[in-house]
Amino acid sequence: MAGLARYRAKRRFGVTVEPRGTIARRRGNAFVIQKHNATRLHYDLRLQLDGVMKSWAVTRGPSLVPSEKRLAVQVEDHPIDYNKFEGTIPKGEYGGGTVMVWDRGVWEPEGDARSGLAKGHLAFRLDGEKLHGGWHLVRMRQRPNEKRDNWLLIKQHDEDARSERDKDILEEMPLSVKTGRTLDEIAQHTCRAKRKSRRKMTKRTKRKVKRAKRR
Ligand code: MN
Repeated sequence: MAGLARYRAKRRFGVTVEPRGTIARRRGNAFVIQKHNATRLHYDLRLQLDGVMKSWAVTRGPSLVPSEKRLAVQVEDHPIDYNKFEGTIPKGEYGGGTVMVWDRGVWEPEGDARSGLAKGHLAFRLDGEKLHGGWHLVRMRQRPNEKRDNWLLIKQHDEDARSERDKDILEEMPLSVKTGRTLDEIAQHTCRAKRKSRRKMTKRTKRKVKRAKRR
C-alpha cells in the first residue's frame, strides 16, 4: 500500500488522538525519535523522505556504542504531522500507550537515500538535540514467512560515538525534548484532560435536561 493507506487502516481516528495526517508536498529532512510505552517500551525512529516519515521501531532504543547493534523493525510510513505527537493512545487501540517526543532535528543521507533503502544499507547523519553524528541502518536477510523487514541501527565510529563504559544516552537523557516531561507525566496529563472533558460533558447534559423539562 502506498503513502499513508497502511497508517490509516490501522487506526480509528476519533478514538485515538493521533493525527490523520496528509502526504506533505513540502521538502525537508526532519527526523524524530518517539519513545513509546506500548506493550513493550521501544523507540520509533522516523526519517522524512518523499512527503512521509519512513519509520522503524527500535526495540531497545538507539545506542551510541558502535558494537551495540539495535534491532529496528520497519513499520508503516507515518505522516509528517506525527512528529509533534505526544500523548496517550487509548488502551486497546493500535499502539495503545504513551508517546513522548524523545529527540528531534534534521537528518542527511550519505549518498542517495532511496537507493540506500532499496539496497538495504542507509548511511546517514543526525543533527538532533540528543543524537548526533553518523549512523547506519542495515537490512537483515528476510527469513521465510517473515512479513516485516528487520534492520539494525548502528552508530558509526566517530567523535559522537561512546564506549561500553560510558553512560547510556537513554538513561542520561530520558525526558521529552518537546515538553521536558517524563512518560508518567505525559500519561497523567492525558488522564486529567479526559476527566475534565467528561465533567464538562456532564454539566452540558444536565443543562439540556433542565431545558427539556421546562418545555
Ligand atoms: Mn511505536
